[in-house]
Amino acid sequence: MPQKKCSFCGRSEKDVKLLITGLNGYICEDCAQQAYNIVMQTGALEQGKKEEAFKMKKVPKPKEIKEYLDEYIIGQDEAKRYLSVSVYNHYKRLQQPKDDDGVEIEKSNIIMVGSTGTGKTLLAKTIAKLLDVPFTIVDATVFTEAGYVGEDVESILSRLLQVADYDVAAAERGIVFIDEIDKIARKSDNPSITRDVSGEGVQQGLLKLLEGTMVNVPPKGGRKHPDQDYIHVDTKNILFICGGAFDGIERKIAQRLNTHVVGYNSVQNVAKIDKSDLMKYVLPQDLKSFGLIPEIIGRLPVLTYLNPLDRAALRKILVEPKNSIIKQYIKLFHMDGIELTFTERALDYIVDKAVEYKLGARGLRSIVEAVMMDAMFDVPSRRIKHFEVTDEYVRKQLDKAHIQKAETN
Ligand code: ADP
Repeated sequence: MPQKKCSFCGRSEKDVKLLITGLNGYICEDCAQQAYNIVMQTGALEQGKKEEAFKMKKVPKPKEIKEYLDEYIIGQDEAKRYLSVSVYNHYKRLQQPKDDDGVEIEKSNIIMVGSTGTGKTLLAKTIAKLLDVPFTIVDATVFTEAGYVGEDVESILSRLLQVADYDVAAAERGIVFIDEIDKIARKSDNPSITRDVSGEGVQQGLLKLLEGTMVNVPPKGGRKHPDQDYIHVDTKNILFICGGAFDGIERKIAQRLNTHVVGYNSVQNVAKIDKSDLMKYVLPQDLKSFGLIPEIIGRLPVLTYLNPLDRAALRKILVEPKNSIIKQYIKLFHMDGIELTFTERALDYIVDKAVEYKLGARGLRSIVEAVMMDAMFDVPSRRIKHFEVTDEYVRKQLDKAHIQKAETN
């Protein structure tokens, strides 16, 4: 009997994992996969998919979304509430019945302002875990105006399509987190005559996506090619969440508050302003002063902020979140049958160092990593049941780590 072969690639039965039998031929798993991709990319299945109404098993209520966020993120209540409501409304909009009452719920894209390392990305990622829609994070710094070296803003949609497994209808109701949106601000508040490749042009490109438009996305991302078949993606229902540190925006806020307090309400206003935390007074006009074009600001109607993390918040971040750094190390050791504990003073010392290094929450992990490296190397081969990290130990390990770094420099 002749050996069975894939009718597409010609590989024989013994060279493939799976050979599916048809009427007059065979197809192997690789060719089947490729055929599937081709079908998805040409959008041949798009029509049928589009008509499927979006049905989600159970839409979590804003309170439930916030409770979920609380398990992973310390503080940032204001941002959590705004996000919870926006995401909930996003679902409602997707499910809105096609009444003829003329009322159409429009989407409310979000912008989060807060220093680096305060949890913007963590919020977005955590929400994505809870959701039933495709989600992707992109960094605004990689974008350049169309025609320049770098990525076009349309590449955002290629990524979304990828995570949606090229299910166009699913991608069209997805959520995109655009990080570092402040980096595409134009350099001054005054529109300049010369073109600002990295700033305003990119904002203009982004604007169309935020507004809702039909975009032709090249199937594999990257540069457009005349022969490539485009996938048509409508961004009308994609929720955009933008985040940025907006370094120095406090100055703009202070300027605005100062000019306002000159007005007749001044005495009351001055008394109420909390100078240590100006971020909470952020308004759309401050984003404009920072260099976002008014059209973009108009397309990001939900504006919220994140607080800088103080010592107490850092201390909580170390131990409290569901997958806090300390819990992760305890689990690592537990898998070797060793009970790992930290004294309160050791934890305090770690936090002190994070404050001293001015690295915020980002610094916590690198400090704990440096502290635990030796123990992680030695302890699994020692016959011990318990390992305690004291402040003494932390100090010793950090000193050692620094000496080693200094020596290698
Ligand atoms: P941002 O996007 O604001 O620059 P990230 O969300 O990337 O900051 O935060 C960096 C890391 O710091 C996160 O991975 C997380 O471990 C920690 N972190 C920051 N803020 C918080 C917070 N409020 N609660 C818990 N962990 C946090």
